[in-house]
Amino acid sequence: MDSQDEEAAASAKAEAAQLTREQIAREVKRRRNFAIISHPDAGKTTLTEKLLLFGGAIHEAGEVKARANRRSATSDWMELEKARGISITSTAMTFSYSDMQINLLDTPGHQDFSEDTYRTLAAADNAVMLVDGAKGIEEQTRKLFAVARLRGLPIFTVVNKMDRPALNGFEIIEQLEKEFGLASFPVTWPIGSGDRFCGLYHRPSRKVILYKKGLRGRAATKETYDISDPELAGLVEGDLYEQLLEDVELLEVLGDELDQAEVAAGNVAPMYFCSAFNQFGVDLFLEHFTATAAPPGPSKASLVFKLQSNMDPRHRDKVAFVRVVSGKFSKGMKVKVARTGRTVALSRPQRMFAQDRSTVQEGFAGDVIGLSNPGAFAVGDTVFAGPEVAFPPIPSFSPELFSYMRCAPNQRKAFAKGVDALLGEGAVQVLYSTDEYKQDPILAAVGQLQFEVVQFRMKDEYGVDTTLEPMPYAIARWVRAGWPAVEAAGRLFNTLTVKDMWGRPVLLFRNAFALSQVEAEQGEKLGELSPFALP
Ligand code: GDP
Repeated sequence: MDSQDEEAAASAKAEAAQLTREQIAREVKRRRNFAIISHPDAGKTTLTEKLLLFGGAIHEAGEVKARANRRSATSDWMELEKARGISITSTAMTFSYSDMQINLLDTPGHQDFSEDTYRTLAAADNAVMLVDGAKGIEEQTRKLFAVARLRGLPIFTVVNKMDRPALNGFEIIEQLEKEFGLASFPVTWPIGSGDRFCGLYHRPSRKVILYKKGLRGRAATKETYDISDPELAGLVEGDLYEQLLEDVELLEVLGDELDQAEVAAGNVAPMYFCSAFNQFGVDLFLEHFTATAAPPGPSKASLVFKLQSNMDPRHRDKVAFVRVVSGKFSKGMKVKVARTGRTVALSRPQRMFAQDRSTVQEGFAGDVIGLSNPGAFAVGDTVFAGPEVAFPPIPSFSPELFSYMRCAPNQRKAFAKGVDALLGEGAVQVLYSTDEYKQDPILAAVGQLQFEVVQFRMKDEYGVDTTLEPMPYAIARWVRAGWPAVEAAGRLFNTLTVKDMWGRPVLLFRNAFALSQVEAEQGEKLGELSPFALP
């Protein structure tokens, strides 16, 4: 090559790099990524379905459930989900809306699965807090809100079921302020509630949107009016119209400029009202949310936030759900796993839609991709192609239930395999006795249902019957200073010392009293006791 050729080649390469950078910037800019946090029954499934409907990802209402039911290709353990009427697995759903690509990370609703939800929130850029209009803040909302806040996520409040008798909007605002110290900025405001819920006032445009129910599941129809339109007085029932004008005035007090920086910091939550069921107001939420939500954040590593074994029993596979955090992901690329230092080629990347999958060629920050690569990943792993970076550790709930799990002697091999796969997913934590002769794994969980799921799946996927022997402990503490500190402390009364899957010391206590006694007597020698298994 002469020097001219070299120059041309170099400039072509620079141009390609520039194009890639531009493509990445463009793709990231149009992505929005969120998780819904709510108490079971607030309407998450219904809202999800309606959002997908507006995004054109599905074509009829009911399809999310229909897909969920069409599970011939997926493991039967999901039967348990169906039987219990709960959603156990987290999946990511992608849909587009006015040029934007929206990634919805679905969080499991049942409280026993909050650990999964925790991790999902670690992969989200925004949290949509869905509240039942009649009930206001509920227990699970409280827990999940705390996590969202811990992660500094922007919060968007959606008050659902306005077609039922609901609390007054101002009451809900006050509740959020009082309990969470969260300021609300109503973007939409309901006109009536229950049977009389007929529309919304849209504050940014000062328009009133009146809805009519669609027949037999069809989309709702709507008419838009200016708030000053005299015609409105005839369209909205007398007292509701008076109430609307009064509310509009009261809302002025809350200011009419939304401070984007305060939203990004999670201090102010844009607020929307809707009836997901009737599709009233879901459109206004989606429109404002996509324009306001935080784009994928600037951290550098990609995070494995969820592992799922045997999605498809014919392939006995294990899928790691990874959130792309920055740059561009392409099929076949090589990444390094921070924990092991191993390099892995990502040859079979998949995108999930509920339980369906398709192969992906490329992905950008904010996308969630399923990687099948047995054994390469563990929950909480970071993977990266460039220089190594640390991801803030994912908090997890401290286990409160402990149980030995056993099998018949002739099933040991399948048992070990199943334990490895299922526990590696992080569905429950596993601990081991320090006694060499007691090698039955100790399952550690937040809720009883986690045990049931593990037992169900051991039987269903590995053909192993298991028994559980509950242990009389209720609190776990990780000894940060490690084994030397445990040895220095000597014998600990009313305490069982076990180890976690990485061999680190964990103390189990019967109750808070036993814990406080050990802390008082041996606290100095033991050093920091943590309720979490931080990496
Ligand atoms: P999830 O447990 O949060 O996923 O809640 P679902 O979406 O399964 O809804 C729980 C129940 O509330 C179901 O019976 C829904 O039909 C009902 N529901 C959901 N959204 C609305 C709504 O906007 N209005 C009314 N009246 N019912 C709703």
